[in-house]
Amino acid sequence: MICPDDKMERILECTTCGERYITHGCDHGMRSYCEKCDEMLEASSRGQVLRTLLLSISCLILLIPANVYPILRFSFQGQWTETQIITGSILLVEQGSPLVGTMVFFTSMVAPIALHLMVTAACAFLLLGWFPRLTRHLWRMLFEFQEWGMIDVYLLALGVGAIKLLSMGSVEARPALWLMLLFVLISGMCLGSLNPCAIWSELRQRSRSKRLLPADEEDMVACHHCGTVQQENPEEKCEVCESKLHPWVIDDRRVWAYLFTTLALYLPANVLPVMTMSLLGDTENYTIMGGILYLWHDNDYLPAIIVFCGSIIVPIAKITALFFLLISYKWNKYQKLQTRVFHIVKTLGRWSMVDVFVLAVLVALGQMGVVATIEPQAGAIAFCGVVVFTIFAANSFQARWIWTYHQTSPSTEKRMNYAHGTQATT
Ligand SMILES: [Zn+2]
Ligand SMILES: [Zn+2]
Repeated sequence: MICPDDKMERILECTTCGERYITHGCDHGMRSYCEKCDEMLEASSRGQVLRTLLLSISCLILLIPANVYPILRFSFQGQWTETQIITGSILLVEQGSPLVGTMVFFTSMVAPIALHLMVTAACAFLLLGWFPRLTRHLWRMLFEFQEWGMIDVYLLALGVGAIKLLSMGSVEARPALWLMLLFVLISGMCLGSLNPCAIWSELRQRSRSKRLLPADEEDMVACHHCGTVQQENPEEKCEVCESKLHPWVIDDRRVWAYLFTTLALYLPANVLPVMTMSLLGDTENYTIMGGILYLWHDNDYLPAIIVFCGSIIVPIAKITALFFLLISYKWNKYQKLQTRVFHIVKTLGRWSMVDVFVLAVLVALGQMGVVATIEPQAGAIAFCGVVVFTIFAANSFQARWIWTYHQTSPSTEKRMNYAHGTQATT
């Protein structure tokens, strides 16, 4: 990536706190942070896009055998069964849990494939300068979609499920499991190297209008997604990320609605059984806590702790944190603490899916005809709802509410100070 030679002044608004800065674009290896809220404002994307493209293509290649071949084999009393990533989703749908099956299918197969197709296309288009508008759309969509690809959580669930089944028979890793592990590592490197600030900086330099310092302040509007302050246009679309330009409004009703839905589902998710296990004629129902105690009494302490954290601690912490944020964003103090809490809530939420994936793995491996069967129960649907609605609630909350609730007009622009002790040329 090469920064253009023309050093036009632009105004950039911090998307977290609304503070405005004057910038001349990125310089190689530099990053800038907001003086008010400490969030990143701009970064250089040098080399990042090409590296991300190569890593993403490797991920797509690995996904083919990882999805086609079996990942685990379970043997029990002379019978054996093998599972692919998709097997759990199909069996969950067949056994009367279409919602849970679809959710597992979407997060463990569709989302990782779609995400890496989007990353590959977005990087290639950006490098080649093709389809500028589509490229901007793709980048915005993939940053929003990123958290739904949960194959790393699925891999953790595979480990827990395998340990749970070890007490009954033998579990063997198949070659596709190692490919899946490699995929998770490369995908982590690929998505971890994606920095939205760097991408928006890059796209900002390629945007349609070159000069964005206002002749008339009145016509200027800030994009709430990428922070670019720009002239209003008839299409009302941001020229950098193509998101809709609109005045800033604080409306927390949707977050409250999602949060109360989560609370309503939380009780059935914990009281109703999530699965039924039949072993040599003995049938037993397990709730989430029952499953954890089963692992604990079997001396499988680590899997018990993982499932306890994912299924009990994370949802409770997330619901409590969201209530805290909904009440505290009006306080006008402790904003940095609240912003940090919000980032943690956003990052942790997806790990709650671990128990749903454990169920999918057990259902897929535990199909031994009359000898052993594992079936999903209503608690799993409620728990899946808890995970999805907490993610919706966290996504509907905006960190900016914390900083701008008491602010009536945009801040005046400041010269941007770059990290590494360098300052933009004025
Ligand atoms: Zn800020
Ligand atoms: Zn934008």
